[in-house]
Amino acid sequence: RKGGSRRDDRDAATIKAEFEELRQKKAYTDILAARKRLPAFAAQGTFLDMLDKNRCVIVVGETGCGKTTQLPQFVLDSLILAGHGSEASIIVTQPRRLSALGVAARVSTERLEDGSVGYAIRGESKQSNRTKLLFCTTGVVLRRLGSGDKLQNVTHVIVDEVHERSVDGDLLLLELKTLLQQNKRLKIILMSATINHEIFIKYFNNAPLLTIPGFTHPVEDRYLEEYLPSLSYRPSGKGVKRPSEKEMDSLRSQASSSDESLLLTLHAISKSDRVDIELIHALVKHIIDSRANPGGVLIFLPGVQEIHACLNALKSIPNAKVFPLHANLSSDEQRAVFAPTSGWKIIAATNVAETSITIDDVVYVIDSGKVKETQYDPENGLTKLEEQWVTRAAARQRRGRAGRTKPGVCYKLYTRRQESNMQHFPIPEIKRVALESVALSVKVTHDDVKGFLSRAIDPPTMSALDHALFVLNELGAISPEGDLTPMGQHLAMLPMEPRLGKMLVLGAIFQCLGPVLTAASIMSSKPLFVSPMDKREEASRARAKFATGNSDILTDVNAYEECASLREKGASRVRAFCEENFISMSTLRDITSLRQEFLSTLTSLNLVPWGSTPSSPALNTHSAHTGLVKAVLLGGLWPRVARVVLPKDAVKFDRVQAGTVQRANEAREYKFFDVRAGAAGGRVFLHPSSVLFRAAEWRSPFVAYFQKQQTTKLWLRDATEVPVYALLLFGGPVTVNHVGGGLTIGTKDAFVKLKAWPRIGVLVNQLRRLLDVQL
Ligand code: ADP
Ligand code: MG
Repeated sequence: RKGGSRRDDRDAATIKAEFEELRQKKAYTDILAARKRLPAFAAQGTFLDMLDKNRCVIVVGETGCGKTTQLPQFVLDSLILAGHGSEASIIVTQPRRLSALGVAARVSTERLEDGSVGYAIRGESKQSNRTKLLFCTTGVVLRRLGSGDKLQNVTHVIVDEVHERSVDGDLLLLELKTLLQQNKRLKIILMSATINHEIFIKYFNNAPLLTIPGFTHPVEDRYLEEYLPSLSYRPSGKGVKRPSEKEMDSLRSQASSSDESLLLTLHAISKSDRVDIELIHALVKHIIDSRANPGGVLIFLPGVQEIHACLNALKSIPNAKVFPLHANLSSDEQRAVFAPTSGWKIIAATNVAETSITIDDVVYVIDSGKVKETQYDPENGLTKLEEQWVTRAAARQRRGRAGRTKPGVCYKLYTRRQESNMQHFPIPEIKRVALESVALSVKVTHDDVKGFLSRAIDPPTMSALDHALFVLNELGAISPEGDLTPMGQHLAMLPMEPRLGKMLVLGAIFQCLGPVLTAASIMSSKPLFVSPMDKREEASRARAKFATGNSDILTDVNAYEECASLREKGASRVRAFCEENFISMSTLRDITSLRQEFLSTLTSLNLVPWGSTPSSPALNTHSAHTGLVKAVLLGGLWPRVARVVLPKDAVKFDRVQAGTVQRANEAREYKFFDVRAGAAGGRVFLHPSSVLFRAAEWRSPFVAYFQKQQTTKLWLRDATEVPVYALLLFGGPVTVNHVGGGLTIGTKDAFVKLKAWPRIGVLVNQLRRLLDVQL
């Protein structure tokens, strides 16, 4: 990255003179007048004074007080005025791409687009040698540090929203703590909402704290049990068990009412695990009908899907404009929410509106109480977004958004009792995720991963780290001696789970990327095929029509591709096709956007040519070669492999009859054993939903799988039959003695050679030689 070393073409005196000129402009003073009303402005002197005397300053203040937009400018302005304008280089990190873009745009406006403000997010940046304030995502700075940049040319790093305690945020603080020792010029500023900030003071050896007082207006709380009686809405409560007498008593006292139908509604809503969009609709109507003056209504929802459902439900309300606000919007769509409207402005948002984005005219907040958070599922080793109750700290932030410009009201879609059960503070993300990615990215710069991470604010447990390092070794990202391999170096630069990253790298090398991109996206999404309880048979028949390659994943890839090919014939065709075939439209959309996202990261690493699309011919030379595609999938999935023992009398499965599907072979047992180098694998069961139950013939006794799930039995959720040679080349040693059959694959020599991940070039040649003949 050469950007950091390119010097401004102007000298300090010119920069100062140009700034003095800017400050005389009317447009600047107009905005400045508004800026001066922000609480942060009053703290300018104290802040600069503290920064002058210390290398690390911690700033807390209510959301909206001006931390993000003002403090970086205070630092810059003071440097320019002191004649240090030419060396000023201030990095401000944001936890999300959306806020990095939004805040950079806002600050640039406040400085009349004078060129001093830039941004950098993954795959997109705008900066020049005149950029002094660079807003970037935390990930961008971490990758910059990972590439060996010690930020020698940076004067200040401002870390925003440290209270969120994301893995990236915690890692950045850990890096900065070390960097403060090495880079004597660097100063750092941590900015936080007023949540649990003492921990940062301690972490940075009693760094001074600046508290910016907020100026929020009072906000009234309305809990579900309080406003429900005044709504006309009564959900059916279908599927919810009737409360016990004891529960009824408790409901009676909570709602201080004995109206049975009201109590049952309250029970149904609070027991439901989905956000009730109809309730929100009724509530919004209630607010609009009972208040004379239109204002902003901010609705906090867990995810994009709920936002769409909400927009859909609310669009019929007259005299109201409805806006979405979430991290996947374009900058234009994002800006729309700030535009003044005359009637009611309703914003359906994710937690991005909690602390990082402020919309001033909000008077009413509707809080669903839910958030999607990354959760680590040790069963499949994957990190997934899952819906959770928010913490009380987050609920307080959400509520505070209603009192920005005048007194407001916060309607909660939960009861007072439910709120009292919420956790107080969020659990730091580092305690909730798989550590493979973390360990790998740390490995690039710090050989002693465990030693380094033990100095984090909340160090992960050593056993969790040991497991992560073990998995990385199995994946070939680090050698048995613990050194980073060439594959590991590539994976460390890919911002996704290493397993999927490895698949994608291999897919790119072997030019079969299209299906691998789709497969990796499918594995990161919810199931593509839905299977409604009452239509299991029908749904499974629908999926069977796409069955291919003795593989659940490739079957889904096949279905995805059919949908994609229908797209040019119009959205209604796709919708009809999906409905007919039990395919989820929203998962389809997720897969499409993930494919694009994965591809652009591969592009930025030069693993595929610029301007490629998932279907570019150059990426797909071998995509029709199913054996190769499976080998590549296995490369990522290893050692998630099971050995299949077919019953003697059933080498073949019953074929699917035209039109009717026979649930073939369910009675006969196919034994699956987990295969793992050096360890005795246990018995596992193929999930009934697998298309492999319909396999016409088996070519190999091995299946790779992605997810294992323990319920009544240990189920493989999905399976892909994999060629033996694929296993030899992309897998590792297989122990099969316990299965009873003495099958060994490959020779001992071959395993020894392949045990440590060979240089990619060697592997390519070996595989190419074998490709035509063996796979
Ligand atoms: P903090 O970081 O303390 O939460 P910000 O610096 O983000 O506060 O915002 C301070 C104020 O700046 C907001 O309350 C709002 O009035 C104004 N503001 C921020 N972003 C924008 C924007 N994009 N358009 C208009 N005003 C904005
Ligand atoms: Mg902020």
